[in-house]
Amino acid sequence: MPSLSDPVISISGLGKKTADRLNQIGIYSLEHLLFHLPNRYQDKTFITPLSSAKVDDEALLELSIDRIEEAPTRQRQLLCYLSDEKNKKILLRFFHINQYQKQAFVRGELIQCFGEIKIGRQGLEMHHPEYRLISQKQTPLLEKTLTPIYPLCAGVTQAKMKLWVNEALKVLKNTVIDDYFEKITNNTMPSLKDSLFLLHHPEKGEDLSKIENFEHIAQQRLIIEELAAQQLSLLKIKAARKTNSCNIFSINNSLADQLLDSLEFQLTEAQSRCIEEINQDISTPQPMLRLLQGDVGSGKTIVAVFALLQAVSNNFQTAVMAPTEILARQHLQSFSNYLNHLGIKVAFLSGSQNTEERTSQVKLIESGKAQVVIGTHALFQENVSFHNLALVIIDEQHKFGVHQRLSLAQKASKTPHQLVMTATPIPRSLTMSAYADLDTSVIDELPPGRQKIKTVALSNNRRDELIAKIKQISNEGRQIYWVCTLIEESEALRAESAENTFNYLSSNLEGIRVVMIHGRLTKSEKEGIMNDFTEGRIDLLVATTVIEVGVNVPNASLMIVENAERLGLAQLHQLRGRVGRGAEKSACVLMYQSPLSESAKQRLEILRQSHDGFMIAEKDLELRGPGEILGTQQTGIADMKIANIVRDAYLLKQASYYSSKLLEASEASQNALISRWIDEDKVDYFNA
Ligand code: ADP
Ligand code: MG
Repeated sequence: MPSLSDPVISISGLGKKTADRLNQIGIYSLEHLLFHLPNRYQDKTFITPLSSAKVDDEALLELSIDRIEEAPTRQRQLLCYLSDEKNKKILLRFFHINQYQKQAFVRGELIQCFGEIKIGRQGLEMHHPEYRLISQKQTPLLEKTLTPIYPLCAGVTQAKMKLWVNEALKVLKNTVIDDYFEKITNNTMPSLKDSLFLLHHPEKGEDLSKIENFEHIAQQRLIIEELAAQQLSLLKIKAARKTNSCNIFSINNSLADQLLDSLEFQLTEAQSRCIEEINQDISTPQPMLRLLQGDVGSGKTIVAVFALLQAVSNNFQTAVMAPTEILARQHLQSFSNYLNHLGIKVAFLSGSQNTEERTSQVKLIESGKAQVVIGTHALFQENVSFHNLALVIIDEQHKFGVHQRLSLAQKASKTPHQLVMTATPIPRSLTMSAYADLDTSVIDELPPGRQKIKTVALSNNRRDELIAKIKQISNEGRQIYWVCTLIEESEALRAESAENTFNYLSSNLEGIRVVMIHGRLTKSEKEGIMNDFTEGRIDLLVATTVIEVGVNVPNASLMIVENAERLGLAQLHQLRGRVGRGAEKSACVLMYQSPLSESAKQRLEILRQSHDGFMIAEKDLELRGPGEILGTQQTGIADMKIANIVRDAYLLKQASYYSSKLLEASEASQNALISRWIDEDKVDYFNA
């Protein structure tokens, strides 16, 4: 008995070479063929009378042959005139036709032809249509169901693909699918089997516009199942992680109260709520894995500090990891501001330290003298061992790495609690799908009194106008960022174009201290420059890379981004968030290269209109898609079989209802469902 898991090569007449080709587009088994759905359909379920045929529509006609002739054109053409009983005519044009085919066209015979109706000089035409000579007993084109048109790969014809899919459908017909998902959806949706049959061969009269918009119940059912399977695989990781043992903190607020007293501001309600949620997590016997989200400037750092104070109170170590050296140093500074006068010892580890520095820091960490350790990826290195690490705080910036979460966890005997901070708000649809293995806290409120950053778009060739503006800001004692985003092949070319900007600015801004920072400088050079900027010894900072400015310099009040059209929305919003951190009014100038594409125009407009990072992130996802936002090696959300989290976001809630139900299913039924939807290499990735 053939089964759906059989390889495609088991289909008779399908050879090794073709199997390889199908493999390349992800089709290995008969089951894969079932999920290779048509991208459109032809309607050959009825014959259109010529009198009601519409130009540009596809139609199946049945008419008799009047006469044929060869067109005297350079490229030989066969013209075949047809007419109906009222003598209304249409011309079939064939560009490649052999003698044998030509001889079969006999005057007076009945022909069925299918194709797009066009309008030519002499009236209606159809170009090399599919046809059958009915009088000669050829199988008619008239079908009972709509005709699927499949996406193809090189070397595979439509007819072949249809044949193979039909083979798979035959096997499906004889297969009993009685899985857990089927059970819990319990007749509220069509079965998997019915859905697949319907989508491969919709009945006459089926609402095709629904299918085109992916809103047909049969599609929705498959989409919900796929999304639920994706979520389930993440929820399983989450559940497995929760069974690990961890250190249970007893909440003690004496340090927290000391810190609160020393703050010049009050926590926002959102911050207090997030702190509460974290305290809840770390005081239970299950390790925390929580995502802390908040817009730029919403005050994530202080929330993280409150979390680590609980670790300190419980005599455990905390590691704080940042994605770059500069950001790690920035964290060192901002965390130390809070921690030093509470008497908490902070160590620092980064790749650029010399052996001596490093050894002394490693000693502090190993002995447990350092209660908090801040650093870059250097924290992961094998020769660093912690005294009693129990909390890990990761500042993610843009990148998100499942692997990183896990390898740091191995630094401790018990699974440490983890708090992941993201610099960019994550669209809700992504937290429900790609991040379903994390709990989330959202700081959905900015501290009071934040001023809106005035945002304008300006064509690159008006950059002279900015000179006066820069002079004015600088005279007022404030600082300016100028970000060059030219995307060049090499760092050398990037540096060169930034150099031009730098020369232009320095020669036009006498008396203003302009300094350039770019990727070819050494770490210590970069750090030196950032320090000078932070401490006000530089007025205008010209930067080539975006990450270098992911810092907090409240005195900076003007952000200029060159070629802003090349950056994603979230990234621009992040950049803009570098200003407006102080009391003064701030501005952001988005310079662009004309002419702007329609989508670039849209993006700049969204930024001009909105300051809401969550809304901007949603738009970014809509415009760029999940692949761009998550990065390629992400969980498979970006290349699902049928679902698309942007298009199908409205189904995510339902999917998560089912995925939580699925957690109650047996291991075997869960795995069956996951392997139906997620390819093995991705499952491995999840379990890594
Ligand atoms: P982000 O969420 O972007 O990381 P930060 O944690 O760097 O934000 O905070 C931005 C600035 O806001 C810091 O200077 C911080 O001291 C300040 N801040 C944080 N919380 C509050 C608050 N509740 N009221 C006023 N200022 C705050
Ligand atoms: Mg921050």
